[in-house]
Amino acid sequence: MSTEYVYMQEKYVEKENAKISVMTHAFMYGTSVFEGIRAYYNKEENQMYAFRVKEHFERLHASAKIMHINCDKSVDELCRITKELLKKNQYKTDVYIRPTLYKSGQSVSASLLGCEDDLLIFSAPLGDYSPLEKGLKVCVSNWKRNSDNSIPPRAKIGGAYANAALMSTEAKLAGFDDAIALNDAGEVAEGSIMNLFLVKGNKLITPDTTQSILDGITRNTVIAIAKDLNLEVEERKIQRTELYLADEAFYCGTSAQIVPISSIDNRNLGSGEVGEIVKKLQKEYFDVVKGRIDKYKEWCMPDYD
Ligand code: PMP
Repeated sequence: MSTEYVYMQEKYVEKENAKISVMTHAFMYGTSVFEGIRAYYNKEENQMYAFRVKEHFERLHASAKIMHINCDKSVDELCRITKELLKKNQYKTDVYIRPTLYKSGQSVSASLLGCEDDLLIFSAPLGDYSPLEKGLKVCVSNWKRNSDNSIPPRAKIGGAYANAALMSTEAKLAGFDDAIALNDAGEVAEGSIMNLFLVKGNKLITPDTTQSILDGITRNTVIAIAKDLNLEVEERKIQRTELYLADEAFYCGTSAQIVPISSIDNRNLGSGEVGEIVKKLQKEYFDVVKGRIDKYKEWCMPDYD
């Protein structure tokens, strides 16, 4: 593989030379905010399309604001740097892009004040995170999702992912594929690192954005395409036992994409097979992210000249 580049400290550096100090504040305290973006390679056009990059950088700015992390670059500048990075890396496969704004200073005080910030963006080839045809067997986690008054889930904060790691590890050790997080109030929040939808009849039901969830960009995409497929969408509180009575369910997220769930806490959903509505949404989703649907083409940023 040819040289891969990473953007940090305002320049593009070779990946093996992209290093930070062991005393970096973000490493010690998890004081970073980040995004995960996917870019899909279109072989016929020899073009890379990065999906909803603008929305990801808008959310990065919002997360940074919450965490007192300074970003002196506009959304347009961040898009331009990402494009440049992908152009330099010249992948011929689907990739994952990880922009991070982090406390790069070397202070041992936990305070966010008086500590320098930096922007780092790396990219790497990435296939499917979970199998897309097989339904996952998942459980409700014993761990609760961090709340708006502890580590706000609305912001994508590096340190918050210890919570996700505990959840998915516990689920895997217990023989499940992944977990569902409840919030402090005991209502359904989301997956470990994905949003969650239930299907009941012709309706999609998903926790609203005050339920301790990340306001997911894939969630927003699913809501848009659901309307095109004449599915009703309800955003509201969901109780745990509603999970067991859903006809179908799925996780969604940038890295997960759309992943069907076939059982929750050992209760099969519907027939226990992957449902028809999830399959339709998956198909539509991949057409959208690969730039095959004109209406949504503006969401796909071409990266190669
Ligand atoms: N919730 C959490 C906790 C996540 O980490 C992610 C992945 N970013 C999501 C939901 C899905 O968000 P998105 O669709 O914007 O990737």
